[in-house]
Amino acid sequence: MVLQAISGPVLPLPNESAEMMKRRVGIFGGTFDPVHSGHIEAVHSFLESGLIDEVWVMLTPDPPHKRHRSKHTPYKHRLRMLELAFSETERVKICTLERELPQPSYTLQTLQHLTTTYPDTRFFLCLGEDSVSSFHTWHRYRDILSDFSLMAVKRPGSDAVEAEDEVLEKTIFLEHKPVDISSTAIRQNGSDMEQMVPDTVAAYMEEHELYT
Ligand code: ATP
Repeated sequence: MVLQAISGPVLPLPNESAEMMKRRVGIFGGTFDPVHSGHIEAVHSFLESGLIDEVWVMLTPDPPHKRHRSKHTPYKHRLRMLELAFSETERVKICTLERELPQPSYTLQTLQHLTTTYPDTRFFLCLGEDSVSSFHTWHRYRDILSDFSLMAVKRPGSDAVEAEDEVLEKTIFLEHKPVDISSTAIRQNGSDMEQMVPDTVAAYMEEHELYT
């Protein structure tokens, strides 16, 4: 018997097809002290890119690059404000994993932990432009680049041309309308900046006398 050659579309190799079946999750980490419309619009752009299925917002208790700051607002308040800000947004989860992991919260450690815990998921790192520019200062950033893709949104006052070429090569810049706001500005100007956070977050800030 002569076996006929099989023609048709080239099928992905077993490993490739396993990769393609995986859920895709973007990790968007920060201090969120407090969460603001810049973060919220960034999350929408990450989701609308079509590159990922979900965004997990990772609340960092003590980020290595912000250790110069004397004190952050207590974790429970930052967490509650994040929950309020995203309570109506589908495909977004608030993640407290970094509170359980050893400190300081190195992103590589977090991504490796997640990859081991969720073998059916491919993780991406979601960033604002300022974080892309300073990415080469992050702990073992080359190891992050070799195992994970970065997706980023533009941010006023930052310029990704300052980023290292090796970082830019691994970063996808998404369609995004930039929002000119920072948590620092809210901490400094308190209730004057209320319009830059959702009403529920503004009410929480007032009730707990945060950033007054
Ligand atoms: P701070 O003013 O305290 O430094 P921040 O406003 O930069 O805070 P973070 O919690 O440090 O907020 O940021 C978490 C992530 O959100 C980072 O990737 C940062 O680049 C991104 N980000 C923050 N603000 C914006 C913004 N306005 N537009 C786009 N990305 C932003």
